Amino acid sequence: MGKPKLAFFDFTGCEGCQIEFTNLGEEAILALLEHVDIVEFREAMTETTTERIDIALVEGSFTREKDRERLQSIRKRSRIVIAYGACACTGGINALRNHQDDYHECVYGADARMPHLQSGPALPISAAIKVDYYAHGCPASKDELVRILSALLHNDTPLIPSYPVCVECKRNETVCRFDEGDYCMGMVARAGCGAPCPALGIPCEACRGFVDEPNLRSLETVLMERAGFSQERAIGKSRMFTANLRS
Ligand code: SF4
Ligand code: SF4
Ligand code: SF4
Repeated sequence: MGKPKLAFFDFTGCEGCQIEFTNLGEEAILALLEHVDIVEFREAMTETTTERIDIALVEGSFTREKDRERLQSIRKRSRIVIAYGACACTGGINALRNHQDDYHECVYGADARMPHLQSGPALPISAAIKVDYYAHGCPASKDELVRILSALLHNDTPLIPSYPVCVECKRNETVCRFDEGDYCMGMVARAGCGAPCPALGIPCEACRGFVDEPNLRSLETVLMERAGFSQERAIGKSRMFTANLRS
């Protein structure tokens, strides 16, 4: 039996998640290639495939109805579909536009009405197809992706944390940003990244989305009472990577 086939597919996104995968470096990628065949990966190879795939990594959000057919075709020929990165998991940062009417004009100015620029709301790919697993983050964590792939290759269920980044931050013995007079959203952000941002002295912006059932009212209250945010800014912050969750 040949090696499992792995493919990357991109929809609406910056392709930073694919680039992040290449940041694994030559040694780690060559080690992975002992266990899988990468059969499509626009950032690093020219070959594409229309054949059956074992694991499809789908990057980018679903923003155009005409992409539904391509997503369904990927789903049909893939044993496992992973939403790869925040755009695919939740709509990601693209979904901010779902709260703004004039985004086309803001971004494209006089060219805003050109036909190739037309698109709808930014949605997670789960709005079009069934997703088996979620690799969160903007970009998706390359190390977590390796853990997910390793579990799948061992016929195991990948463990995707549903506890907050604060847990990892405490494990790292990092001084809390609030104790430094800063803000942070790690108390509702989904862990799995290892809390690198607070460790570098910058707030967690919840790029991995939120834990299951986040208490967003309390997040707002903490941002207002501890960090001096206005309510508008607190809501804006909590929307950044999860705008589809906020009205
Ligand atoms: S999740 Fe972030 S890095 Fe990945 S494609 Fe979307 S915007 Fe780019
Ligand atoms: S710095 Fe952020 S992630 Fe770390 S403990 Fe404080 S609130 Fe939690
Ligand atoms: S600490 Fe927060 S912002 Fe930084 S990578 Fe983790 S989830 Fe994303």
